[in-house]
Amino acid sequence: MPELPEVEGFRRRLVPVAVGREVTGLAVFDEKRWHPASGLDAGSVKGATIDAIDRAGKMLVYRLSGGLALAMHLKIAGQLVLERPDGPRLVGGHPYPRPGIELPDTSTRFLIELSGDVRLWFNDQRRFGWLRLMPLTEVDLFVASHDYGPDPIAPGFSDAVLGSRLSMRAGRPVKVALLDQSCIAGVGNIYADEALYRARIHPRRLAGSLDARDIARLTVELVGILNIAVPVGGALMRGNRKVDVDSEVDSGRDFLEAHGCAGAACPRCIARGEAGLDDAPRIVRTVVGGRGTYLCPICQTEP
Ligand SMILES: [Zn+2]
Repeated sequence: MPELPEVEGFRRRLVPVAVGREVTGLAVFDEKRWHPASGLDAGSVKGATIDAIDRAGKMLVYRLSGGLALAMHLKIAGQLVLERPDGPRLVGGHPYPRPGIELPDTSTRFLIELSGDVRLWFNDQRRFGWLRLMPLTEVDLFVASHDYGPDPIAPGFSDAVLGSRLSMRAGRPVKVALLDQSCIAGVGNIYADEALYRARIHPRRLAGSLDARDIARLTVELVGILNIAVPVGGALMRGNRKVDVDSEVDSGRDFLEAHGCAGAACPRCIARGEAGLDDAPRIVRTVVGGRGTYLCPICQTEP
């Protein structure tokens, strides 16, 4: 967390507001998370225009006029807050600090100021996120150095692509393979759990044990859950726990059926008519590859 949907969902809302605006200032609140290339500093971006905002895996890349680029990674607890005079605050990434809080607060690492009094705050309670400034000519090489696998919501992603990526990791549990950013890009703990649950595949099954039908189902469910999550800006998670949606007044994000839902009745078992709400199997939490993992023991048969 944040994963592809949280980053991409925010990017899609950020682009129409930020692209074409001039950067009027960059304030660095935490020097340790700030990595300018040699010869560049926060003042270097002043006066540059944002030409494009791209995503690579879970990384955002701001392409600026004047031959510069900013690469940004929210890591496990980064949050972006967009403030503008003519619209509501937009919050993306981690749900904390709480959306209404006055900024900067103790978690604020950066502020990018744009023309028209538009402000983009980068908050991060855990201090793993980072911002890197470099010449535009170096950014593609920088992205490539991360060795990201194919993007699951890009055109051309298919069961053949997923099958080929998983076949290179045949001896590893399928969940571990999905979390490997060089296998496919952007999927983390939430969406790996959710896709495997929906595809009825136990996360501990070896990637090489999946047959063509398993891979076809997993492809459909993975792309499907990402395409549900992206338009609403992703899930509201704190650590491994689903944030109470009622308290956040954001019911559009209540789409998780397995991840963070330990103890809840399995909606798929109920939908199959095999159980009612009271006697349905419960979602359980286990650990796979060192990560908290949620599954239905009936839907997803242990290998
Ligand atoms: Zn079930």
